Amino acid sequence: MTSAPVTNRHPLNLPDGAVGGLCVLASGSRGNCSVLVVPDGGTRRIVLIDAGLSPRRTQRLLADYDIGLWEIDAVVLTHLDTDHAHLGWAKSKSLRAPFYIHASHRGRAERLGLAHKHTRPFRSAFEIGNRISIDPVLLEHDSLGVAVFRISIADERTDQHAVLCYATDVGRPSQTLARHIHDADTLAIESNYCTNLQQNSDRPAFLKRRIMGGSGHLSNQQCFELAQKAAPRSDLICLHLSQQCNDPALVQDLHQNAPYSVTLSTQHEPTNWVWIQPSRSSPITPVAQENEDLPLWSTEVGP
Ligand SMILES: [Zn+2]
Repeated sequence: MTSAPVTNRHPLNLPDGAVGGLCVLASGSRGNCSVLVVPDGGTRRIVLIDAGLSPRRTQRLLADYDIGLWEIDAVVLTHLDTDHAHLGWAKSKSLRAPFYIHASHRGRAERLGLAHKHTRPFRSAFEIGNRISIDPVLLEHDSLGVAVFRISIADERTDQHAVLCYATDVGRPSQTLARHIHDADTLAIESNYCTNLQQNSDRPAFLKRRIMGGSGHLSNQQCFELAQKAAPRSDLICLHLSQQCNDPALVQDLHQNAPYSVTLSTQHEPTNWVWIQPSRSSPITPVAQENEDLPLWSTEVGP
């Protein structure tokens, strides 16, 4: 199944029962950026997950939903490849939000000019506002790894919460990954390539090895098997489909009998909003505050 089209695109008008909405503005090797909107005490929290589009394009896409760059509360980065962290943000003055970057990516952020005094390095769980807590785990991807997020969103009106998991560029399936994304309400995960199309492509051998060798990307089949294990309760969002070595129809076919709705992200246009519904009654688990004690960036880079 595919998700129903959303007629009212304004994210503040959440359907009854939803605690938030996620829209993948774009995903693929030319840029990844998702926006999470969560009502919080009469206002709304706006979180970008990855910022791999130029500031100008991000601003234009968000304007369709009446979201200004100044409104963004946090930019949470999985890793710093330029398709996830566009270098244009180093010079952008229109963003007041801190960048949350895994502590092991800190040196690279400084070298890229993406570090500034508002940057918050994390190693363990952290909170954004009163309703969002983000639990990261670092997995293998190239040399510095990639952060996978388990995001709990508390309902304003009840003691329920929903779980959104976000995993991209994760290299290979692993027990740690499977555990971290297990039993989400909404699971966003990469489905990068079809193995046959990859093997038969005219890409150089080193690139095929990098992508398929365990520290690059997940294939469609690996994504499918992980989704079977993780068993998202409501929605699966497939991220980072390769334009050269994948076919959306193949991805759709794999999941056609699955008990969750499937949304395919694309490089060129935003997905529909996927509404995140709470399905568990236990209150949100308080997270450790230790990240607040980590020093902020010592150097201010960029204008
Ligand atoms: Zn990527």
